[in-house]
Amino acid sequence: MLKLRSIHLLVVLIALLPRISATETAPAAQVPTPSEFLKFEVGADRKLADYRQISSYFKALAASSKRLEIETLGKTTLGEEMIMAVISTEENLRNKAKYKEIARKLADPRGQSSEQLDALANEGKAILLITCNIHSDEIGSSQMAMEWAYKLVTAKDSETLRRLNDAIVLLVPSLNPDGETMVTEWYRKYVGTKYEGGRMPYLYHHYVGHDDNRDWYMLTQIETQNVNRAVYHDWFPQFWLDEHQMGSLGPRIYIPPNADPVAKLVNPLVHRGNNLMGATMGWRLEEAGKSGVIYNYSFDAYWPGGTRNTGWWKNMYGVLTEVASARIATPMQVAPSELQGGQKGLIQYEQQINFPNPWPGGTWRLRDIMDYELIISDAALETVTKYRKDLLRGVAAMANQAVQSADPSEFWRIPLEGQRDPITATRLAALLLQHGVEVRASRDNKEFVIPTSQPYGRFVDEMLGIQHYPEVRPVPNSGILEPYDVAAWSLPLMMGVRAEKVKLSSQEQQAATVIKDVNWPTAGLSGSGSYYSVADTQNNVFALINAVQKAGGTVYLSKAPNQSPLVIFAAHPQLAASAEKLHVRLEARPQLPQGATQLKPVRIGLYKPYVASMDEGWTRFVLEQYGFGVKNIENKEVKAANLNASYDVIILPDSPREVILEGRASRESYFEEFPPEYTGGIGREGVRALKEFVEKGGTLITLARASEALSGEEFNLPVRNALAGTGNIGEGRRAISTAEFNVPGSLLRIYVDRNHPVAYGMPSEIAAFVDAPLAFQTSLPAPDMERSVIAWYPESARDILISGYAHGTEKLERKAAVVSFTKGKGKIVMFGFRVQHRAQTEGTFQMLFNAICWAGE
Ligand SMILES: [Zn+2]
Repeated sequence: MLKLRSIHLLVVLIALLPRISATETAPAAQVPTPSEFLKFEVGADRKLADYRQISSYFKALAASSKRLEIETLGKTTLGEEMIMAVISTEENLRNKAKYKEIARKLADPRGQSSEQLDALANEGKAILLITCNIHSDEIGSSQMAMEWAYKLVTAKDSETLRRLNDAIVLLVPSLNPDGETMVTEWYRKYVGTKYEGGRMPYLYHHYVGHDDNRDWYMLTQIETQNVNRAVYHDWFPQFWLDEHQMGSLGPRIYIPPNADPVAKLVNPLVHRGNNLMGATMGWRLEEAGKSGVIYNYSFDAYWPGGTRNTGWWKNMYGVLTEVASARIATPMQVAPSELQGGQKGLIQYEQQINFPNPWPGGTWRLRDIMDYELIISDAALETVTKYRKDLLRGVAAMANQAVQSADPSEFWRIPLEGQRDPITATRLAALLLQHGVEVRASRDNKEFVIPTSQPYGRFVDEMLGIQHYPEVRPVPNSGILEPYDVAAWSLPLMMGVRAEKVKLSSQEQQAATVIKDVNWPTAGLSGSGSYYSVADTQNNVFALINAVQKAGGTVYLSKAPNQSPLVIFAAHPQLAASAEKLHVRLEARPQLPQGATQLKPVRIGLYKPYVASMDEGWTRFVLEQYGFGVKNIENKEVKAANLNASYDVIILPDSPREVILEGRASRESYFEEFPPEYTGGIGREGVRALKEFVEKGGTLITLARASEALSGEEFNLPVRNALAGTGNIGEGRRAISTAEFNVPGSLLRIYVDRNHPVAYGMPSEIAAFVDAPLAFQTSLPAPDMERSVIAWYPESARDILISGYAHGTEKLERKAAVVSFTKGKGKIVMFGFRVQHRAQTEGTFQMLFNAICWAGE
């Protein structure tokens, strides 16, 4: 025993020796400034470093300084290497495995005595994650990151050295490298023209654009997954600072405290820690003479979807900052009369206690943004090192409170039996594991159980429970504070998965073991025959249909009234492997049932407007994930008509009518033109071309607001938006006020006609994600047209809301949520709710897939 230990010690010493001597003897390399390295003045007007330049600078820093290392977080959607700089003293970096381990133990303190936790907090380093530029046109922080890293690795003053000794900084210069490149290229292309600094006509992420910060509980995008892994499986940072930019005409910077409302399940210590950091930031900004600092403004403490917010439920301090934007790297002049409030926390632009020193207006440039951000980044490091022990102990205290405040016999159960889509149910368990949640599986693999008494127990309750939006009124008799983003995120409801809170006996608890990975349901072929079938109730069945059709196989649909249809595959050499891969179980059968019809592959066109639609990107992402071949159609192609030659299905993603028809974000307000090749919409001729497409047998699918593009005059459909005045869809609209009707992103109950092809395989009652005043009122069509109400709201308003917030739901009573119109072979399907909202509503994906497959029946 003794001998073994001394051999081990010797090995460690030998391993350390060459490093120590190398450190002592190697000459200090010259550390270049960002401007020296990139050969232009970083932060100057009209100058931007693109992502490759930024990452090459960080690599140069790593090569010339022992205070900085580069970690690769993974590849981006478009294959770029996503980097994170790890900055601290040389000694801390050498011992980073030890400090990660301490951070992990503080995040999950079960089994440690309070003396042990004190010792860990004493010995541990504050791990501070700073993420920049998730929104790519909020470009300042990506440039600032280089300057701040340079400052930290070259500092010789005792205060910075003390901070570096007490902390490890994880600095991600861009959370969306692909978008950083796109924005920089777009900016450089138009600098010096009248389009300089203008918006891009496409999304700055291949799929999701600005919604890349709406993905942090669902983890659908590769960049989100990369960071999630580093945070909740490797580093366990105690503090996350996420640096953004906001509009140009209000305050100069937002810092914590957040605005109301506040989430019930977040431990208040999170906000106490955040507010400490906010106070230091405000202090240092004022001290440096920076005006326009605001807190308790716009950004609430309620919504869990963005970067650091998700961490709140996992006992992590997390701070958002927002600096006013310039025109990318072009300075702007703001007249004092243009300065405005108009947001929660600042109604009029004037001095208030949360805004004690208003910015007077004037010139605002990239350099200003970076200067504010350098100060707050320093203040963040100052805070986490000054209060290091308290913050570290706080993380363990919050985790212990989460464990102790929950009943140890209370579990969330996700059964697999009786589940309509057991593959999606398994995916929910896999998602929780990705989040670092403790998940257990029964030995017979028939259910997952998740203890609420665990460090991330409040996250589990938030994500699996339902939301009741707090109706906070800032002053008596006023309206309630509106949610910042959506108001519902209950994963079981969104995913169409049955999950329930249960009490387990100790025997039942012992029958379940903690798992690292899920066991997917048994898949592949059962028996052997000429045909194989599966009930049409699982999203992955559509992925299998697409895989088999792509491989040249044949697929049939067999229907029976009031039952889920069967999808039947003719035997094919690739069938078994594809079914295995997609976790689908197929049953052999000797022959095709009578009346089975072939499902033909269809060609899908997805309309892409120039006022970029995130729903277009999400729709493309979801369809690609499930193996649908999708091609984008732009205005020119729609206007050129003859669409049937190339497409069987055309999807108009959620976009306002003005965007689709005119290429304008709004009809009323000033709209800065795009370069000519990106100007306009489909126009009247485009609408006529779409009508012709349907008349010649095409299937047109409209998602949410896009239904209003099918204006009465051309299409003459017997339907109107019941929430927008009289007249046909698209005509006679009036904006309904939020005082009359407000559903800001909530889950509402709808009933579906399971005998309609668009609702095949669905349960008769579902949770639909709704975020706009849109519900259909159909009327009687002419004899040559058939209209179907495929899904509708309950008769009584009190049955409508399931999770989130809804006001004015009596206006939805008995109104239609999904309708279709057929004339000859042509079909139109209108979805009034968000059938695939942000790739999160897996419980309703099938209705979109069905609508597409309907075209191939
Ligand atoms: Zn942002």
